[in-house]
Amino acid sequence: MHGTESSPRSAPADAIPFAFEPGGFLLVLSGPSGAGKGTLVDHLVASRRDCVFSISATTRPRRPGEVDGVQYEFVSREEFERRRSAGLFLEWAEVHDHLYATPARFVDDGVRAGKIVVLDVDVQGGASVRRARTDAVSAFIYPPSIDALRQRLLTRNTDAPDVVELRLRNAPGELAQWREYDYLVMNDDLGLAVARLEAIVDAERARVKRLRPAR
Ligand code: ADP
Ligand code: 5GP
Repeated sequence: MHGTESSPRSAPADAIPFAFEPGGFLLVLSGPSGAGKGTLVDHLVASRRDCVFSISATTRPRRPGEVDGVQYEFVSREEFERRRSAGLFLEWAEVHDHLYATPARFVDDGVRAGKIVVLDVDVQGGASVRRARTDAVSAFIYPPSIDALRQRLLTRNTDAPDVVELRLRNAPGELAQWREYDYLVMNDDLGLAVARLEAIVDAERARVKRLRPAR
């Protein structure tokens, strides 16, 4: 076809954009406890100004070193249920005997502002977010073995032995969900895993469907 409206020859030169504004999106990370989700989130948020972490609300007790309002907002069960009833959560789930939820307003405001809003959620949360926000990008963080998971949870030294065992028992059921995600990031060598995740973020950032000519 010749002479169509989209033909390059018919476009006025001053209408051709040379700068683009990338659109925001949700980046959902899931994987078993100890896979390295938190570590990868920390790297991503530290190295990219366009990435922000969505701080979940949880009823889980705070671990040594965790700060309220940084890793999580630590709330009572009553407060959690009040927020759930008020419709403040994009999704919520019970994971390893505790309640966790993603705040709806923060993530939607972030995406609207052009940010990549990073969610660290379990596989139930991943499924809920994919249903509720069909434009979300999801990546499953995969450990090289169950032994490596155990070793990492023991080295992290943040959970009592029975808590580590519960998390390891739950791992195979979580790992079985990897096909539901857009991407799989093998976290064997941490440096390589960071690079793999950054490559995904860069590719998704370059998707034409999310780009707008800069004004
Ligand atoms: P998650 O958030 O998925 O539960 P973390 O990010 O807390 O997992 O990682 C669990 C532990 O494993 C931490 O002590 C972290 O430093 C360590 N870790 C993360 N990635 C790797 C890796 N590729 N190799 C070795 N240790 C790792
Ligand atoms: P942890 O207690 O180790 O911080 O997290 C335990 C599990 O809860 C992990 O699988 C983590 O991804 C998940 N999780 C953390 N925040 C949320 C959330 O807001 N929603 C859901 N569904 N899971 C979450």
